[in-house]
Amino acid sequence: METKDYLRILREEIHSTVIATVDGEGHPVTRVIYIMLTDENSLYFITAKGKAFYAQHMAEIYPQEESRTALEVFQVAEGTGEFFDLSVKPIFRDTFVLGVSAKGEAGQMGQNGEKTQRNASGQQGGYFITDRCRGCRICCSKCPQKCIDMSAKPFVIQQEHCLHCGNCMEACPFGAVERR
Ligand code: SF4
Ligand code: SF4
Repeated sequence: METKDYLRILREEIHSTVIATVDGEGHPVTRVIYIMLTDENSLYFITAKGKAFYAQHMAEIYPQEESRTALEVFQVAEGTGEFFDLSVKPIFRDTFVLGVSAKGEAGQMGQNGEKTQRNASGQQGGYFITDRCRGCRICCSKCPQKCIDMSAKPFVIQQEHCLHCGNCMEACPFGAVERR
């Protein structure tokens, strides 16, 4: 699916969404927002006057008193998102990108053709099997998603189904699995 498909799910099927962010002092907090509108690659939300999130946005984005009177709709113009479908087995995982400049930072194709994702430092994130793999299959027996492709060596983790549980890395006797 494309970004607009995930945004449609957020708008039409979920609507009230909990997002993780930081407060004015940089501490982690969660905020409930109501997603009202989306376009091709961004989303718009409102948060009510009186809520901490509203005050935080107004203080940071519209510091002048005059600029606050009419503006209560906020746009998330850039960012990355992760989608999980836990109702299927193996689970399905995907990434999507909001905005123009973020394109190319997530959801790219990896060297084995699988869709990959980026961690906080912009690197390809997740668990990966390296050339140290000897094909012993121990990791496959420990994988709850059965998402390790054994058709070539080194074996390949199918990133779109990986739960990031780390069992494979823990089980591998040759240290062939890396977390990036
Ligand atoms: S346990 Fe390690 S060496 Fe064995 S197949 Fe898995 S990654 Fe390769
Ligand atoms: S981290 Fe390893 S064991 Fe866990 S789901 Fe992913 S591939 Fe399977």
